[in-house]
Amino acid sequence: QVLVAGSANVDYVVRAPHIPTPGETVLGGDLTIVPGGKGANQAVAAARSSGAATVMLAALGNDAAAETLERSLAGAGVLLHAVRSNSPTGAALITVSETGENAITVAPGANMALAPTDLPDLAGIAWLVLQLETPIDTVTAFAQAARTAGVKVLLNTAPARALPAELLAAVDVLVANEEELACVAGEDGSIADRLATIGTSIAIVTLGARGSCALANGVFHLQPAFGVRAIDTTAAGDTFCGALAGALGQGQLLPEAMRFASAAAALATTRAGAQSSIPVRDEVERLIAG
Ligand code: ADP
Repeated sequence: QVLVAGSANVDYVVRAPHIPTPGETVLGGDLTIVPGGKGANQAVAAARSSGAATVMLAALGNDAAAETLERSLAGAGVLLHAVRSNSPTGAALITVSETGENAITVAPGANMALAPTDLPDLAGIAWLVLQLETPIDTVTAFAQAARTAGVKVLLNTAPARALPAELLAAVDVLVANEEELACVAGEDGSIADRLATIGTSIAIVTLGARGSCALANGVFHLQPAFGVRAIDTTAAGDTFCGALAGALGQGQLLPEAMRFASAAAALATTRAGAQSSIPVRDEVERLIAG
C-alpha cells in the first residue's frame, strides 16, 4: 500500500481578462470549484494512474469543501483517513488570465493542523509520500517514523523551501522541479552534481517538457518527456510523483517507474484541471506502448 500524507485543498478558479492589480476589481467568468492540494492530487494519481492501493492522510474542516475532497478521493479509489479540524478546509483562490498566467492565494486552514501524532499505524504500508504544504515538523516526524518502521519515503519538495537536515536524512526518494532543486541544492554546477549533493539514495528533478533526470545510487538516468499537446500543466508534477510512488509500490524498477510517471504526467497536461486531469492506468499503458 501507498500512504500519501499531506495537503488537501479546494481550488476556486476564475478566468479573467487580466490579473487584478492592487486595489483593482476585475469581472471574470464563472467560478469553478475543483478538488486540489498537492497531497490529494498525488493520492489520486497513485490510485488512478497506477492502480496501487492508496490511503490518504489529510486534515479537513467540517464544511462543504471537505465533502468535495471526500468525493474526489473516493471516486479515484483512495481510502481517506481524515483528521477533523475546526479550521476551514484548505482553499486556493486562483485567477487565470487570458494569457494563461495565474495568481494564487492559498488559505492553508486545516492543513496546518496536521500534527506528528496523526500518523496512522504503518502496518501494510510500503511507501509514504510527503510534500511541503503541511507543517514542516509534521513532515519531518512522519518521515522519521516511516524510516524507523522500514517504510520507504518519497518526498516531493513542493512548494520550494530549504529542508532541515533531519528530514533529508529520512528520505529515500526526493522529487523536485527546477525551482525546488535550486532551493535544495543551489544553482551552480551540473544537474547531476546538484542531485548528488542532496544525499538521498535517489534524487529526481522534473524538467517540464524536457522530461526528468534521476541520480540513483550514483547512476544517472534520463527520462525524456512524452510528446503530447499540452494545454494545462496544472498537477503535472503531482501526477508524476503519485504515479511514480504507485509504480515503485508495485515493484517496478526506477527506470520503468520513471517512464510510467512521465507518461501519466504527460497525459495530465493534455486536460484542464488538477485531479480531474489525472489519467487511468489503461491510458498510461497505451501511451507507453505508443
Ligand atoms: P511541476 O508541475 O512540479 O513544475 P514539471 O513541469 O517539471 O513539474 O512537470 C513534471 C513532469 O510532467 C515532467 O517531468 C514531464 O514528465 C511531465 N510534463 C510536464 N510538462 C510536459 C509537457 N509539456 N509535455 C509532456 N510532459 C510534460
